[in-house]
Amino acid sequence: MNHVDLVVRGGLVASAQGAFTADIGIDGDRIVQVGGSLEGTEEISAAGKLVLPGGIDVHVHLSSGRPSSPSSYAWVDNFYSGSLAAIAGGITTFGNMTFPWPGDTLDQALARDLEQARNDAAVDYILHPVLFDPSEQARLALPALAEKGFRTLKIFLTETTFNSRINEFLEAIAIAAEHGVLVLMHCEDGALLDAISTNLTRLGRTDISEYALSRPDFVEEAAIQRAVSISQTLNAAVYAVHVSSAKAIQVGRAAKQRGLPFFVETRPMYLHLTSEALRAPDGPKFVGAPPLREVEDATALWLALQDGTVDTVASDHAPWSLEAKLDQRLDFRTARQGVADLETSLPMLFSEGVRTGRLSLSRFVELVSAKPAQLFGLWPRKGVIAPGSDADLAIWDPTYEYVIEAARHQSRADYSVYEGRKVTGAPVTVISRGEIVMSDRVVSAQRGRGVWLAAQPPSR
Ligand SMILES: [Zn+2]
Repeated sequence: MNHVDLVVRGGLVASAQGAFTADIGIDGDRIVQVGGSLEGTEEISAAGKLVLPGGIDVHVHLSSGRPSSPSSYAWVDNFYSGSLAAIAGGITTFGNMTFPWPGDTLDQALARDLEQARNDAAVDYILHPVLFDPSEQARLALPALAEKGFRTLKIFLTETTFNSRINEFLEAIAIAAEHGVLVLMHCEDGALLDAISTNLTRLGRTDISEYALSRPDFVEEAAIQRAVSISQTLNAAVYAVHVSSAKAIQVGRAAKQRGLPFFVETRPMYLHLTSEALRAPDGPKFVGAPPLREVEDATALWLALQDGTVDTVASDHAPWSLEAKLDQRLDFRTARQGVADLETSLPMLFSEGVRTGRLSLSRFVELVSAKPAQLFGLWPRKGVIAPGSDADLAIWDPTYEYVIEAARHQSRADYSVYEGRKVTGAPVTVISRGEIVMSDRVVSAQRGRGVWLAAQPPSR
């Protein structure tokens, strides 16, 4: 009989391969034993429950994209409130987009976010440097960043500079690829978006209700095709963030079939909502880029979750206040993009996917924990319940029923795009590096207890 600090007893332990009933032994911050006989100083019963590796949401926005001024609206969560939202949603690791402020180097931007996260984050995290200016200085900084464990680079194909400075961007991507850095791309073509915007503006159609029309699926298709061609040209691992349409999915699927190191993320909103929501009077609440699509697109995304075309589901948590989203002065060009979803992402996917039989439990685990860990250099420390891995566990009650109400959320965003939706299945107890941070749905985690994770060279 092995004596350990904490035993999670009798749950159905799930991995990307399958599930089996076992006790889990935790000593300090690590899992030391799965199965066999165990005795714990503390014990948690997980009988009748599912024990999943903690969720890994690799795409969130918990730090500001620019210096905040009292008059400007900004995202309302920080690393602390965002961590609490993550925990409530069964997530124990997040990946934050780190935007350089004007004049910042990548190192300066990362240093600022690292300090804030060190003070505030209550779960573990990685940071993705965003490359807006592919200057020689920025390119030369990439190998050292990779060496330190920053093995991602985010690029916006929406930026005008992506076209005007394409050679510099290609050089940066080539350097990234040589150093085992995964290149994250926002795939909507900036030049085409500009042309559409000019047309609509000339016609006087600038109302925010034109938002979906201003960013059509073929503009996403063009950009993701270019991302695939870049991956092939430079032999670069490329990861398309928040893929939203059937057209774009088909491009991603074809790239995989050709054996390219091309990876696809989708965002939960596209699975559960359509552009109809954008046309309602409160439509601006649902604005994100790319915009919500049609029923056929959602159907294509569900199929892509099943057949492996989609590698990960990430929330793209971008928390605004309702007041900021519904600001009457906004038009389709200035609309505030993004929605809060850290807390609802996994329960919605579980309820709509696993409970309905569209996703197996192991596929769910793969999409929200195992695959993100593998792609982002965290495996096998994260993403799996095995001896030696961090003790990051989410104990789910698959029968727990509740109604989504933003007023009860940990996030400071004061509305949810799923307000009023009924959900079946929720994390009830969450353990982060051996510490119980949610118990019976009550979150309690100390500010600053999260640690930054250096990514290993990715295993794909
Ligand atoms: Zn984002």
